Formats: sequence, structure tokens, C-alpha cells
Amino acid sequence: MLEQKKYQFWFCTGSQDLYGDECLAHVAEHSKIMVEALNKSGNLPYEVVWKPTMITNEVIRKTFNEANIDERCAGVITWMHTFSPAKSWILGLQELRKPLLHLHTQFNREIPYDTIDMDFMNENQAAHGDREYGHIFSRLNMERKVVAGYWEDPEVQKEVGAWMRTAVGVIESSHVRVMRVADNMRNVAVTEGDKVEAQIKFGWEVDTYPINEVVEEVNAVSQADIDALVEEYYSKYDILLEGRDEKEFRQHVAVQAGIEIGFERFLEERNYQAIVTHFGDLGGLKQLPGLAMQRLMEKGYGFGAEGDWKTAAMVRIMKIMTQGKKDAKGTSFMEDYTYNLVPGKEGVLEAHMLEVCPTIADGKIAIKEQPLSMGDREDPARLVFTAKTGPAIATSLIDLGDRFRLIINEVECKKTEKPMPKLPVATAFWTPQPNLKVGTEAWILAGGAHHTAFSYDLSAQQMGDWAAQMGIEAVYIDKDTNIRQFKNELNWNSVFYRK
Ligand code: MN
Repeated sequence: MLEQKKYQFWFCTGSQDLYGDECLAHVAEHSKIMVEALNKSGNLPYEVVWKPTMITNEVIRKTFNEANIDERCAGVITWMHTFSPAKSWILGLQELRKPLLHLHTQFNREIPYDTIDMDFMNENQAAHGDREYGHIFSRLNMERKVVAGYWEDPEVQKEVGAWMRTAVGVIESSHVRVMRVADNMRNVAVTEGDKVEAQIKFGWEVDTYPINEVVEEVNAVSQADIDALVEEYYSKYDILLEGRDEKEFRQHVAVQAGIEIGFERFLEERNYQAIVTHFGDLGGLKQLPGLAMQRLMEKGYGFGAEGDWKTAAMVRIMKIMTQGKKDAKGTSFMEDYTYNLVPGKEGVLEAHMLEVCPTIADGKIAIKEQPLSMGDREDPARLVFTAKTGPAIATSLIDLGDRFRLIINEVECKKTEKPMPKLPVATAFWTPQPNLKVGTEAWILAGGAHHTAFSYDLSAQQMGDWAAQMGIEAVYIDKDTNIRQFKNELNWNSVFYRK
């Protein structure tokens, strides 16, 4: 499900024929050296592909249109080695539909003091050419990422690598298909939204199926398949019987195994990558999908509870963006539950009724069964664990009626002071930046939801860049957030984004 696609990024160097063939030969040679070094650096998650120097309107337009139709190409990286008159770029840029990074760099790090002459100056003038090139984006009002710095610096390379993940999130967004087996929870506002507008803006297809169509698929799962998956669960997870009858416990676990297999088959057959459920709309299911949904999320599916298709799609996109990341710590659907307001120990306890992704687990994962206080079904089996510590981001995509807004909060995940032996769900605990008071005040002013798409493996910048490329508003809540300025920002944005 989360198999990493072999996306590529095209490296397009700008120049012109004013300086002669020898200069153009150097430009091509230099950019080839840079592409090779970038690919060898280990700092880029995807391959960079060298393209012949962009010197005329025709070459620029042709190359960008080839990028548009090449399914492997997730974006283009451009850089002006020499001066490249920007009018030559207008048509190509107007037709480009892939994310673009403007790498503002130059081939040599140091000025060659002893040998520098006008030939060198003409050949190595990114300081000059990149300004002309940057201007046309501003004139065209086109979104692009700008990264400035020396191309051999690991920090610059990592910035390019981080943007590559954003670009893949942009490209993959148009392939996200969300399956709903329930509507939005009655009377709930923040998880609602305009699905047509979401398809226009993000490309998401959000479809509904009667839950009992999926139940048929669940009921069709063979006993042998269920038994094999239950064996896998029992070998992989601790079993917390806590006085329950062992046989009955296993039968309940088997129900979740059937749900996992049945739902996954249904999703695969119809090419859906995200799903929403609702505890109040379970049709013929014997249990609320708990352990089953946790496992599907672990496999890379997006998930949203109570019909929350926006968060389901965001969880899917954020999982895709982190694909193949070394030492990844996890990405999950999450919900703000309850606070610790003790001075110096402030934080939010995060959980859900059941559905937290085990990729964020720290240490052992166990299966527990306990009645739900809501709904009218069997006590569902669920995976319980506590989440990892460290910095992470929580994001909420909301529909304000005239536009979408992405709220991005940097948070610091911690261990709770004491264990919570009676709490039968997986949990995380975090303090939002800049602190609980300002962080929550800002979140509430921005209209952020109680549901979030959460990740340890993406930065606020990557998500903000994603929103910018999607043409939607993003607001950051981080160490620099100040409520007065934040309120002004929301007010100013409401004017800027009004269409
Ligand atoms: Mn919820």
C-alpha cells in the first residue's frame, strides 16, 4: 500500500546563446556535475534527472510540457547558470503543471580572485540571472519554492530533499480517493466540507458506499484467512486479557481480523487509499472497526473517524509524503481529548475512541478489549500503546465556506507523568508551541478541529509549502506565534484569499 513510487525530479539549467558555444558547454558540464553530486549526497529522497540546457522559448516550453506528461516526474528544479532572459520562460511556465523549485546557487563556491575576468563573470552569473528569472514568477503570480545556498552544502541539499516530499504530496493529492461508509456525524460542523471544492482544489474523490456492501465483503472472508491473521496478531502483540475469558477475547479479535481483511479487499478492488467510518453507522458489523482501522492506517491508508473525510485524505497524503523516510517515527489520525493544566506540566492528551496508528507507538503494542461508551456493539478489540517523544506537527484542514485553511501547529510530544492503566486506548501527549495557552488560543481563533493529521516525520514548512502549491491558506502556530499578530494574520488572510 505504501510502496514508494520511483518519482524523479528534472534539473533544468537556464542559459542563452549570447556567450558562445564554449560557455554553453561549460554550463552543461557544470550542471551535470551538480546533478551527479546531488544524487550521490544521500540527502535527496528521489532521483534528480539532468536535462539539456534551457536556452530558448521553444526548448523551455517543450521540456516543461514533457514534464507535464511524464508520470514519473514529480517536479522540476531550475537554476540560471548565466543570464536567461525571463520573457523566454513565460509560455513554458504558464503551461507547467508540476511543482517547481528555484535553486538559487552557483557552480563555484568562492570568487577565483587570481584568475577572475569578464569571461568568468559572464559564465557564472546566477546572482544576476536568478533575479531576472525570479521576477517573472512574481509578475505571473506563480507559486514556486525558492531555496538559496551552495549546492554542496548538506543543509541546502536537505532543503531540496524536504521540498521533494512536498512536491510528491502535491502530485499524489490528485490520486487520493476516499471511501466513506458513513456521513459526517450529525450536527458536527468542523469535520464537514464541500467535497466538490475539495476535488477542484486538491483532486480528491470522496465517494460513499452503504456500509452493508462492505459488510458483505467482511462476511465473505474465509475462516482460514481470519485464523491466519489472528495468529499474526497474537505473535506480534501482547494480549491483555485483564480477567476476560480467553476464548471470548480471541473471538472478538477474530472479528477485527475479518474487518481488516474485508475492508482492505473492498478498498483495493475499488482503488481507494483512505477511509472514513462512524461509530453510529455500523450496519451489520459486529464491532466498531478498531484494531482493523489501526492496522489499515499502519499499511498506509488514510483514516478519519465520524465521517471526517478531510482528515482521512490528509493522513493519506502525509503518509505518502513520508514514504521511505529513514528512521520515520510515524503519522496518524489523532484527536485532542483532555488537558493537563498543572503549571510546568501543561499538555494535551491525544487519543481516539480506538483509531490511532501504531506507526507512532513507542515500544510494546498490546491488544485490549473494553466496552465502548457509545454505540451498541460488541466490545471491540484495539491496539494500545503510548506514542514516541519529540517534535512533531498536528494539522487541521478546515472549510471556511469561501476557502480551505490548513492550520499547522508544531508540538512537542512527551511521556505523561504517570501511566494510565485504566485508559483502554492508544495515546500521545504533547505541548503545543509556543506553549499550551498561546497554542490553544491560536488554534481556536483559527477554527482548527479536534481531529488532526499528525506526523513526527514532516516539518511545518513542508506542509505550508504543500498548502501554498495547492493555492490554499496556511497558518503556522509555532514558537514565534503571538496572539495579536496571529489575529491580524487571520484578518488579512480573509481579504487575500477571498475569491
Ligand atoms: Mn473523533
